Amino acid sequence: MHDYSDDLQGYEWPACVTPRCNRQLWVAEAGRWACRPCEDKTAARITELPGLFAQLNTTAMLMKGASRISGPSGSKTPPIPPRLDVLNLVGPGGIAAKLSAIEDSWRSALGWTIAPWRGSPAQAIPDHVRFLRDNLLWACSSYESVGQDIDDLRKLHGECAALAAGEKRPGRVQIGACPTPVDDGWCGTALTASTGSHRVHCGGCGARWDGLGEWRELRAAQEAATAEQARQAAEQGEAAA
Ligand SMILES: [Zn+2]
Ligand SMILES: [Zn+2]
Repeated sequence: MHDYSDDLQGYEWPACVTPRCNRQLWVAEAGRWACRPCEDKTAARITELPGLFAQLNTTAMLMKGASRISGPSGSKTPPIPPRLDVLNLVGPGGIAAKLSAIEDSWRSALGWTIAPWRGSPAQAIPDHVRFLRDNLLWACSSYESVGQDIDDLRKLHGECAALAAGEKRPGRVQIGACPTPVDDGWCGTALTASTGSHRVHCGGCGARWDGLGEWRELRAAQEAATAEQARQAAEQGEAAA
């Protein structure tokens, strides 16, 4: 009688290549790299990305946490900048760059030319999403490295969803003191940002900041002003001692 156990040893039933899944494939999934549930979940995540991007790409998100008090006792509370994690995600190196890298690796595996330049993240993301959705079945079936991309898309979606879920507060948020230089120091008026506008306007000195680039400048100026204030306070402390 033939003992089949030897034949079965060393034979591994094919499993999904997605990290953290590794589910054994069904017979109907034979020949695939990633399992069908991974494909379905990934399709849903890809589809949600443009909406999450739009939600993150608002003043409210960029200003989230801006009024949070940090440090003990509340004295000399430094201005808290707009959340850099959000800025990074909606900037050119964020969601758009990650989707673009995946699209290019799929295009390369398909023997296609790399994706054309598609403009700003807001313009490019819908196009990347369309490409990835259209070719997801191919990738799960025929692209050996798809598991890493599925895992990267899961992490990207999770990061965006967590940040978007944390931002529900409407209205105005405190974003620290106005750092505009005036005669003997700086303006110091408390600045606020509105969820409905990309503009910050100082009611004290009339300074304006509009959009991401200028907000970064505002933040840098606030940090410089805070550092200078701390230095002066230390000097006064020494002089009094
Ligand atoms: Zn899977
Ligand atoms: Zn001012």
